[in-house]
Amino acid sequence: MSVKLYSFAKEKIKTDFLVPDYYKDFVCKGKECRDSCCMDWKVNIPMDQYFLLHGLSCNPKLKEKIDRTFRPLVKPTNERYAEIVHNHNGDCPMHKKDGYCLLHEQCGEEVLPWVCRYYPRGPRFDYAFECSCANSCEKTLELLFSNDNKISFEKRNLTFFMRNKEKELSEAERNRYQNVRKACFDILTNREISLTNRILQLGVYLKDQDNTLNPNAMSKTFELKANIEENYQILESVLSRFNGKYPRLLSLINQVQNVYKDGDYLDKYNKALNSFNNAFPNHEIMFEKMLINDLFFKKFPFNPYSGFYNQYMTVCGTYILIRYLTINLIESHQSKEALIDLLSRIFTVISHSEFDNNLVQHLQNAGIYKLDQIEILIKL
Ligand code: SF4
Repeated sequence: MSVKLYSFAKEKIKTDFLVPDYYKDFVCKGKECRDSCCMDWKVNIPMDQYFLLHGLSCNPKLKEKIDRTFRPLVKPTNERYAEIVHNHNGDCPMHKKDGYCLLHEQCGEEVLPWVCRYYPRGPRFDYAFECSCANSCEKTLELLFSNDNKISFEKRNLTFFMRNKEKELSEAERNRYQNVRKACFDILTNREISLTNRILQLGVYLKDQDNTLNPNAMSKTFELKANIEENYQILESVLSRFNGKYPRLLSLINQVQNVYKDGDYLDKYNKALNSFNNAFPNHEIMFEKMLINDLFFKKFPFNPYSGFYNQYMTVCGTYILIRYLTINLIESHQSKEALIDLLSRIFTVISHSEFDNNLVQHLQNAGIYKLDQIEILIKL
């Protein structure tokens, strides 16, 4: 591997990265994209990248556009210093009608903020050299759903220009990462049993591996029954705790709540579930691939701020939410394209915010923490 200092405190990292099989086929769809990442997204950039952009020598028209597009946050930090100010259509002012980027076109790829330059790719450098694409990009999901094969991984020689700010880890820590992740992915891809049972087995495995688990936290739990109406109401009350924090996701949650607002939970749920099963008989495989891809992208379950079991809860929360939204919203538009649009939209929040951790907190506050409770919710 070669790592050398590059301009603006960046490093050139060129080495073999472990990537999912679809990675080699990824190409941004440009103007063909139905929900471009340049639209609506809240994008923050670090301080050094902000000052790099504002110090660029370029034509006055572009300079003025840069000044108007990147604005310091009210409470900036080094890492989250400025934001992109979208125009009245919710689009990035640099996003051209042909789908390409004005900044890229006029000043070259090197000056793009990292998030714009590499998205949806997420290079990782600490536990292992790994890279994958986020589920929030519709092209990623199209590639994932283009066949029913299990995701496989391969080495590819890749180059990234970015600061390697991750901490140094010991050989033992890296080995544990590889072993635990392999065990997790083996469990989740065991197609001899249903996906919900695999998710439950994952919980048993990670609970056992988690030496941070507080047994007292398990005591104040809530008894759930296998009852659609009651459990949907519990789920709705948990989701309503977000109080407008994630508007992109909450508009979808509100649509489902509207479906059920007049009651008849069981009839409506069974009808939606039947049509979803008929439209996507292989949905279990699609969900398996999507989950594995999301977990690989997040370095699951090695988030330094959370224990294994809590991170496991985020998987369950993600799965419960995806089922809740897809089963109930896809009924009237049963195409793979519509499913991809819905899922990529959900993942714009799940993969790029604290939403999943907050969801776990809300589930725990509602007394939902034990595997038998989770079993009832993930089987909805
Ligand atoms: S969401 Fe993906 S395909 Fe669409 S513009 Fe962004 S990177 Fe390209």
